[in-house]
Amino acid sequence: MVFDRSRDLFEVARNFAHFFAHESCGFCTPCRVGTELVVRQMDKLKRGYGSSADIQVLYELDKLMHGATHCGLGAAACNPLRDTIAKFRPAYEQHLKSLHFVAGFDMDAELSQARRATGRNDSGAHLENFE
Ligand code: SF4
Repeated sequence: MVFDRSRDLFEVARNFAHFFAHESCGFCTPCRVGTELVVRQMDKLKRGYGSSADIQVLYELDKLMHGATHCGLGAAACNPLRDTIAKFRPAYEQHLKSLHFVAGFDMDAELSQARRATGRNDSGAHLENFE
């Protein structure tokens, strides 16, 4: 396939991800579930909620599916992702909020209810005191 410079290769790869998830016959779990997980990762990046850790997850899904699916469709499903991440990584990075992992919530604040329930509020009960 030939694309000119106007095409967003992240979108090209995302379209492939949706295509393979739709075409998976569902016979084997690595492909049935893996293609859906890839779609969710790509859609998450598209919505702007991704981090570089999500790109690593795509690599791991590729490795898993490449070696564990029953037929060539599942094994090849991540080829467009692998190639575009390797050769056009900025197309992915422009969809990241940050190149570093950013938690979607404040874990220490979430634990405040547990601190109240246990009557603890000393320095050892706060996450920032742990490395
Ligand atoms: S790898 Fe092949 S057999 Fe397995 S679910 Fe995908 S299309 Fe079906």
